[in-house]
Amino acid sequence: MSAEQLSPRLESLVQDSRAALERAVSEYGDVVYSNSLGAEAMVLTDLICTYVPEIEMFTLDTGRLPDETLALLDRVERRYQRRIRVYYPDAKSIESYVSDNGINGFYLGIEERQQCCHIRKVEPFKRAVAGRKAWVTGVRREQSAERALGETFSWDERYGLWKVSPLLEWTDEDVWAYINARNLPYNALHDKGYPSIGCAPCTRAVEPGADPRSGRWWWENPESRECGLQPRRRVIPLKVEPRRAAGQ
Ligand code: SF4
Repeated sequence: MSAEQLSPRLESLVQDSRAALERAVSEYGDVVYSNSLGAEAMVLTDLICTYVPEIEMFTLDTGRLPDETLALLDRVERRYQRRIRVYYPDAKSIESYVSDNGINGFYLGIEERQQCCHIRKVEPFKRAVAGRKAWVTGVRREQSAERALGETFSWDERYGLWKVSPLLEWTDEDVWAYINARNLPYNALHDKGYPSIGCAPCTRAVEPGADPRSGRWWWENPESRECGLQPRRRVIPLKVEPRRAAGQ
């Protein structure tokens, strides 16, 4: 790593995050990273591939992802010369859902939307972590009041394995400083006003300064806006700055 490109703060964050990942492997052995392909995921992918490559990576292809996200997956695999396992929804469940609700049934109501998220995200995620000892996630303290109270290592009651959060102390600015310093790939939609990127029909750009997650399931009440992978949370509005130029 070109350490001279990193500020002392970033150097310290990298060392702490690396130590957390190494401790996870040494304590739990069987550790898997759920790669969201978001900005934080680019940092974690780089740290894992550089320092702790024994951690397996997977991602969820819901079948409704933007082209830009799939293009990023390809670029990440080429950069690190390793495959990221892709989990897909159960085809019969999707067929049944679409038959009952239509191809865009998630717009009908919260129940239909959460059902879609369950089929396309939660169930494949459960399959991906089944039998594992620990999973890694890129949550950060500043993202919400609940995440602000998070711990680097915690027992995930919901899925029955340890949850490791090595980026808790990173700010949005830290994430982008690292991406720029390391010339990491990132989703092209970030440069078009999308701070948080999910499925194409359920994500839209936000105005500068708006809550970063306000572009997700924007037609719903903020209280219901979660996909089921993480606990329900109250979002703290954060200032969204336009992305600085960074190499692809
Ligand atoms: S984000 Fe939208 S399209 Fe994606 S799984 Fe949830 S409801 Fe379905």
